[in-house]
Amino acid sequence: MSPRHSLLAPLLCAVLALPGLTACGANPPSATDTPTPVVPEERSNSTSPVAQDTPTTEPGIDLSDRTVALDPGHNGGNASHPSEINRQVPDGRGGTKACNTTGTATDSDYPETDFNWGVAQKLEQELEAAGAEVVMSRNDNEGVGPCVDERGTFADDADLMVSIHANGSESTKVKGFHVIVAQPGSSDELEDDSNRLADAMSQAMAGPFTPNKAYGKDAISRRPDLAGLNNASVPAVIVECGEMRNPSEAKTMESQSGQRKYAEALMQGITDWY
Ligand SMILES: [Zn+2]
Repeated sequence: MSPRHSLLAPLLCAVLALPGLTACGANPPSATDTPTPVVPEERSNSTSPVAQDTPTTEPGIDLSDRTVALDPGHNGGNASHPSEINRQVPDGRGGTKACNTTGTATDSDYPETDFNWGVAQKLEQELEAAGAEVVMSRNDNEGVGPCVDERGTFADDADLMVSIHANGSESTKVKGFHVIVAQPGSSDELEDDSNRLADAMSQAMAGPFTPNKAYGKDAISRRPDLAGLNNASVPAVIVECGEMRNPSEAKTMESQSGQRKYAEALMQGITDWY
């Protein structure tokens, strides 16, 4: 565990913890569960230019006049600003929770925030190539925040919001994506539209990737405690793209080509929802 992770260890599971699974946590493996480090062959770097990555959107997808909000989870500077990200903010259900967390990491210490940022940039390219306007919750991968209460409201003028994350279960055997939607939603109509978005994202992700059926056959969980979703005024989902501590998924998540595959699946889900 690196210093940047140990700094905030108590926080790591605060956002997305579920029974038996450690979401967004970089918990150390137990003595009997020591994973083999993954050596990435094509490790992605958040500072790499992305211009050489050509969007592969099929011709014919027209998202003109559509506005899509993307939230790459966490931020690269969160770990070095504990007092800022530990402060309490409204959770959208009358309570409070921490502004943000550092996110999880692969066992070779590739941070979730870099993965989220890489996928979001590629998805932004796909969407813009199809004519859509894209609104992002953050503009770089070196800053701090925004806090979770602003990770829904930034999308107020968009048609929908997709929050991109990766999970960090303690067991390296846990594998697969899952999709999270707010329930209850702030209105029946918004809840229905968000559920439709969750279905579309789950079906699109299930093409190239494995659903984590611990969350049901569609790998969708419905939760009242996630501030970004609670504070969204448009249909919104969190996609936990995979498990960063699973060696095979970590290898995919660390590579540019793998991140492109995730972006393409998310693009498919968005176009299917429209
Ligand atoms: Zn996360």
